[in-house]
Amino acid sequence: MNAERITEKLNILADAAKYDVSCASSGSKRKNENKGLGNASNGICHSYTEDGRCVSLLKILLTNHCIFDCAYCVSRKNNDIKRAAFTVQEVVDLTINFYRRNYIEGLFLSSGIFKDADYTMERLVRVAKKLRTEHNFNGYIHLKSIPGASDELMREAGLYADRLSVNLEMPTEAGLKLLAPDKNRQDMIDPMEFLKNEIILRKEEKKLFKNAPLFAPAGQSTQVIIGATPESDQQVLQSANYFYKNFNLKRVYYSGYVPVLADKRLPALNTSVPMVRENRLYQADWLMRFYGFEVNEIVNEQQPLLDLDIDPKLGWAIRNMQAFPVDINKADLQMILRVPGIGLLSAHKIVSARKFAKLSWEQLRKIGVALNRARYFITCKSNEFERRDLTGNNIKQFILAESQSKYIKNTQTQLNLF
Ligand code: SF4
Repeated sequence: MNAERITEKLNILADAAKYDVSCASSGSKRKNENKGLGNASNGICHSYTEDGRCVSLLKILLTNHCIFDCAYCVSRKNNDIKRAAFTVQEVVDLTINFYRRNYIEGLFLSSGIFKDADYTMERLVRVAKKLRTEHNFNGYIHLKSIPGASDELMREAGLYADRLSVNLEMPTEAGLKLLAPDKNRQDMIDPMEFLKNEIILRKEEKKLFKNAPLFAPAGQSTQVIIGATPESDQQVLQSANYFYKNFNLKRVYYSGYVPVLADKRLPALNTSVPMVRENRLYQADWLMRFYGFEVNEIVNEQQPLLDLDIDPKLGWAIRNMQAFPVDINKADLQMILRVPGIGLLSAHKIVSARKFAKLSWEQLRKIGVALNRARYFITCKSNEFERRDLTGNNIKQFILAESQSKYIKNTQTQLNLF
């Protein structure tokens, strides 16, 4: 196979893979032993394209041939596009070459479905196996699991990959039925369930036997496509919450639908999901996982959509003004975490620092609290901030006005430099 053909395949198959956003590589601790190649560890850095997508891994499809016809996917069988397929050895060679040149830190490998789930999954597993066993490659490997693949192949995949993921694709079963009638939700749930159990089992085994092999040490994740079907943010977050709780997922990735195909079931070609919706969903996701919020505190029947103007924590605070002001020198950690402008790290610092002295505005600023937002919701040692009986809506307007004038000021300063 000549270099020109490989480059052509790379162009086709890397381009087709860009719609999958679930490629963050943190959370694995694969050590480099026996002078192998690479070292996947916490802190692998990522670079992002302009639209915020991760590019630090070699991110490709094994093939964009597919027997399925999912309406939202460029690789669907009825889409008239150039098709290509790598051989197992070609992917292995590319990964090793790119790694040696320092272009990448690992591999993110997904695929269209060649013939059936097992046939495709077996090839994905072979790539990972060859990299680990023949090249002693210790870089990060994220494999997409093909829904419907056998337990045996999933088990083997877990022995060589750092992370495995099964894409849910649509937030609800109804959405999946509408746009991907060949697919079945249960075919996604079964491998997730299998992986969850296997990861728990292998962790227990590792406690007893130090030499027991690693099994998907960076866990499993999934991706949902937002905006291809009309689900509300409430439905999206409820679904994410269900999968976090029941399948021990490390991450749910929210991918705004990019209109690439005309189909009456899909949004029009000239409409696209605003990037800010993705961002708000990630913020809400963060609140559920690290800040102790329940889904229905963030979105509910009355308010099924996230406010795109402000972050969801600020949104919750202005709907719950009766919970404020919070005395920063007395409140418990859980309540401090709910104050807009106070992040996880700052909240812990506050709780430690106030053991020694009562905290003032200045100290809070030094700790890293964003006072432009927090000051409306807290009291501390210094004089109370003049809240003047502001309503939640007043506060929202003040914060928005301030952030806008800051933006204008920054832009003007930058323009003055030229
Ligand atoms: S199965 Fe995957 S690759 Fe095939 S059409 Fe559906 S989303 Fe695209």
